[in-house]
Amino acid sequence: METGLRPCFGCGAPVPDVDGPAHRYIGASPGCWRLYGEVLAREYEDYARFAPVHRLTVDAYAAQHPGTPSPQSIGSVGVHLVRLHLQLERGLPHDRANAAMLEISSRVKVDFVWLDPPAHLGDVTVLDVLDARGPEEHMARVRGWAASVWGAWAPHHETVRRWAAGGSYPKIARGR
Ligand SMILES: [Zn+2]
Repeated sequence: METGLRPCFGCGAPVPDVDGPAHRYIGASPGCWRLYGEVLAREYEDYARFAPVHRLTVDAYAAQHPGTPSPQSIGSVGVHLVRLHLQLERGLPHDRANAAMLEISSRVKVDFVWLDPPAHLGDVTVLDVLDARGPEEHMARVRGWAASVWGAWAPHHETVRRWAAGGSYPKIARGR
């Protein structure tokens, strides 16, 4: 059945105008949430290959769909922005970035506050990843997507860096 397209209320991508499940606090239209599920399914099918970018996928999607202020959305946006910072600015590989993010959030999650999302959360969306022809392009597009979303959050970079500095992750980074 053909369905029309409607901009996702989170990322603005033209996504299928469908009813369906969406995440409880990630602010995505059902059609966008479904496409994200397809991207995740592709990554899980060949996880050994996609592991280096899988967390960037999750972080980019969550940070591009901040939703509305709630304790859950504040925590989600906070940890995903911290993990983007760790991977993109600190150069931590995905597994170290995850361990560091968990450690940081256990210490500083209480300090997280709602960050007013920028009006535009980047030109790259889940659609661009879904359109990739082959794994290499998929991974390259995830990296571009993550960089784009992180860049869009520039007004709050200093806050995110400060949160990240509240953890002890440099010790983890030195242990590489
Ligand atoms: Zn979306």
